[in-house]
Amino acid sequence: RSISSYDDVPSKVVLNKDFMKDEQGNYLVTLLKGHGIGPEISRSVKQIFQAAGVPITWEEHEVYSRAMNKEGDLLSSETINSIRRNKVALKGPFMTPIGKGFRSLNVTLRKKLQLYANVRPCRTIKGIDNIYDNVDLVTIRENTEGEYMGLEHRVVPGVSESIKIISRRACLKIARYAFEYAIRNNRKRIIGVHKAGVMKKGDGLFLECLREINEEYPTIQYSEKQVDTMCMKLAMNPQDCDMMVMPNLYGDIVSDLCAGLIGGLGLTASGNIGAEAAVFEAVHGTAPDIAGKNLANPTALLLSGCMMLDHMELYDHGNTIRNAIYNTIEERDNLTRDLKGAGSTTLFTEAVIKRI
Ligand code: NAD
Repeated sequence: RSISSYDDVPSKVVLNKDFMKDEQGNYLVTLLKGHGIGPEISRSVKQIFQAAGVPITWEEHEVYSRAMNKEGDLLSSETINSIRRNKVALKGPFMTPIGKGFRSLNVTLRKKLQLYANVRPCRTIKGIDNIYDNVDLVTIRENTEGEYMGLEHRVVPGVSESIKIISRRACLKIARYAFEYAIRNNRKRIIGVHKAGVMKKGDGLFLECLREINEEYPTIQYSEKQVDTMCMKLAMNPQDCDMMVMPNLYGDIVSDLCAGLIGGLGLTASGNIGAEAAVFEAVHGTAPDIAGKNLANPTALLLSGCMMLDHMELYDHGNTIRNAIYNTIEERDNLTRDLKGAGSTTLFTEAVIKRI
């Protein structure tokens, strides 16, 4: 890439919301059910969305097995094109082997669609026994660069090199996205999270860009914290945190810490946002230990679906479903085992539908 393409500074957040509709006037949304518990929790979402009368027609795509036979590519171009066309997708978790085998499908998807902003809100839900009340924070993670570029090789036997890339262009984009998100969602404070004391060049550039964009948003209170100090603060006083923005790897780790503050991975939603498309997904993985046993908690995928409805400006439908979920959890009606309940995926789904 030419140097100038790294200096091509976006002056606003552009999101293509030219969504597609079918003949009945329903929005077309790509659904990737994913692996492990993915099909079970996707079924729950479909049933609850249908009960709430959400005007969506799902375009379902298999990832991995079928695509592998087709093109030798795990994510088929048919799937990618469906998301590009519809501009919005909901996805279940993908299985990725650790330390070997094919490249993470999630990373591939984010790169192919340039989903540069990963948004993870974490909010205390009544009815869950947590250490802290009133946690309400959002992590914004740069989603395309850093250590997750996949630039790794064995230098000589016994020595490996993993390259971390940080570009001014990506930093400015995520910084702008974070400040715009704060304005749109009535958030007041943003912390830039980094390790610039050690990663002077990479994280130093990240901070430089945040400071530059911050100048355009004087109403947002901006400060900075090293990632290790941030983790300690989150463990001790998470209520003090409003919004954080950080490079890819730190975002991955810190947002799981935040999930733990509100009751675990079964509850945490996320969105991967790009200029041309947005893909919403639960933060958790395929949960192979409980897959196929009707034990999975569908809440995280459901709340991701609600984030998607907000993105599509179907706010009433999103709020109806969110309220039904919150009421079900507060009344502890058939909660799944991860929430110390004795219910199941299907019983919890029925309990939510009863409240719509
Ligand atoms: P995991 O999130 O799948 O599971 C961690 C623990 O949390 C397990 O005990 C699991 O049973 C529990 N859990 C997770 N989601 C739950 C839910 N909805 N309801 C109830 N319990 C739930 O993490 P892992 O075991 O480290 O990873 C398994 C696989 O998932 C790996 O292949 C990993 O690469 C993949 N993964 C994918 C994504 C993604 O697609 N976005 C994210 C994380 C991990």
